[in-house]
Amino acid sequence: MLIMNGMKISKNSKCPCGSGKKYKECCLRFHKGANAKNALELMKSRYSAYASGEANYIIKTTHKNSSHFEKNKQKWIKEIKKFSTSNFKKLEIIEFIDGEKEAFVEFKAYIDDYVMHEKSYFLKEDKWYYVGGENENKQIS
Ligand SMILES: [Zn+2]
Repeated sequence: MLIMNGMKISKNSKCPCGSGKKYKECCLRFHKGANAKNALELMKSRYSAYASGEANYIIKTTHKNSSHFEKNKQKWIKEIKKFSTSNFKKLEIIEFIDGEKEAFVEFKAYIDDYVMHEKSYFLKEDKWYYVGGENENKQIS
């Protein structure tokens, strides 16, 4: 597959989050500015953003106190764009624990030849933000 920077997912492609819908009918609206209504939607749309190289969406939805928050935006954008050249094969949601102000999403992301198993933590302020999580990567043999 030919991968062009930032053009990996077309509007008519299946959305990377695994909803079965087209990207334009799924996570694209969040990447264009709509707020996710809960942490699960946010998590899925962030996965899609990594897959499609929507670096600004990742930045905008990462909490300022997160250890993932990078002050140097140019450096951060570069890192996200580089990561987005990976093959995002599948997203599997294991558990979603919703709350008023905080929420958790446990998932497995199948990327290239490994599985990233993470329990992510989210906070709601003016909107939902990703804070961080515990994760481990396992090689697929
Ligand atoms: Zn989606």
